[in-house]
Amino acid sequence: MTTTYVLRGARPLGGDAADVVLSDGVITQVAAPGTAVVPESADVVEIAADGHVLLPGLVDLHTHLREPGREDAETVASGTRAAAAGGFTAVHAMANTSPVADTAGVVEQVWRLGQEAGWVDVHPVGAVTVGLGGERLAELGAMADSAARVRVFSDDGKCVHDPILMRRALEYVKSFGGVVAQHAQEPRLTEGAQMNEGVVSAEIGLAGWPAVAEEAIIARDVLLAEHVGSRLHVCHLSTAGSVEIVRWAKGRGIDVTAEVTPHHLILTDELARSYDPTYKVNPPLRTAADVEAVRAGLADGTIDIVATDHAPHTREDKDCEWGAAAFGMTGLETALSVVQATMVDTGRMTWADVARVLSANPARIGRIDTTQGRPVAVGEPANLTLVEPAATRTVDGAAQATASGNTPFAGRDLPGRVVATFLRGRATVLDGAPVAPVDAGGRGGAR
Ligand SMILES: [Zn+2]
Repeated sequence: MTTTYVLRGARPLGGDAADVVLSDGVITQVAAPGTAVVPESADVVEIAADGHVLLPGLVDLHTHLREPGREDAETVASGTRAAAAGGFTAVHAMANTSPVADTAGVVEQVWRLGQEAGWVDVHPVGAVTVGLGGERLAELGAMADSAARVRVFSDDGKCVHDPILMRRALEYVKSFGGVVAQHAQEPRLTEGAQMNEGVVSAEIGLAGWPAVAEEAIIARDVLLAEHVGSRLHVCHLSTAGSVEIVRWAKGRGIDVTAEVTPHHLILTDELARSYDPTYKVNPPLRTAADVEAVRAGLADGTIDIVATDHAPHTREDKDCEWGAAAFGMTGLETALSVVQATMVDTGRMTWADVARVLSANPARIGRIDTTQGRPVAVGEPANLTLVEPAATRTVDGAAQATASGNTPFAGRDLPGRVVATFLRGRATVLDGAPVAPVDAGGRGGAR
């Protein structure tokens, strides 16, 4: 028998309090507080949720799970456990694994590992080019037709910089409603780049990654998408100029969507003065003016989603001098708190907006919106996250569920706490702690 959960006094999307009942994988009641009829069942769990916000389960369009190949940094099991802890019920796993996810075989492997782990739905992203080499298109159609049903394609970590290949990829994915997600980085303009090109890079003597290297690719790609009538998604947009280009493209009717990471909503390149490689990330942390521009772009809908770019790295790859350290930071377990701090607590967005940018929109872009990113309503799949916005926590990198410790928020106080996460009515997190999915198959959360 499955457990029935009764969430007493929760506020769906931050609205009026209600009792919400989850049973057999779906939402069965949304009733006035105190009026939910509890079924005559032996297995009912009541959760006191007064003041808590109930959101559709979060969906990440941009997660690096590192398996296969770098299980020392993260596995599908550990990364998806971190995702559940952060309130997610689905993630898209980036293709830059070893081997690269550029065939039906590899994407099916990642998809199966996700099912076995049981923490969230794992949707593999397929590589655009063979081996991320930027020379030949990968088997996009075979990945789309595979059991993993891939709809998002990206060479993330690398830019599809050859315009002919980018054009062909955009044309190809049209036939099955796919999307190309571009890591916008002009390679020649960023050779050897270590951080944002600007005042700080000049003062501390690190090679700069100029805003134009991102903006030039986005400008080219929105025009290519318009030319071939296809759908483009821009990964981790980070500059004020990029926001302006996407705003212009949308105004022109071009089918483009864009994401911003939590870290680009809150951190700036001033942090590089510490020479602490925790803050080394690609695209780099930008200026305070860029942070303000991406917040404004997210608030006005120019930027469609927040995506984590969760990029776990081992100590050996990160605890070294800046120039030798890997790019990237973790993000699954802090994303919602950063969005609350920067957008909700500042009055720029409502919780309904949060549900849009962290659940409904990423589900729609990834073509998983029949099961994820749904309204909190009777009959809908019970993919949900329950958040306590009034809580404050001090981030402890060592205590996180991810296998890697490279969070830029260690020691910081962040608002909000994920109290519970439900995947098709099954609790993956309760009382703020992950609950091993015992009935999900062999590998579970103990791995
Ligand atoms: Zn990237």
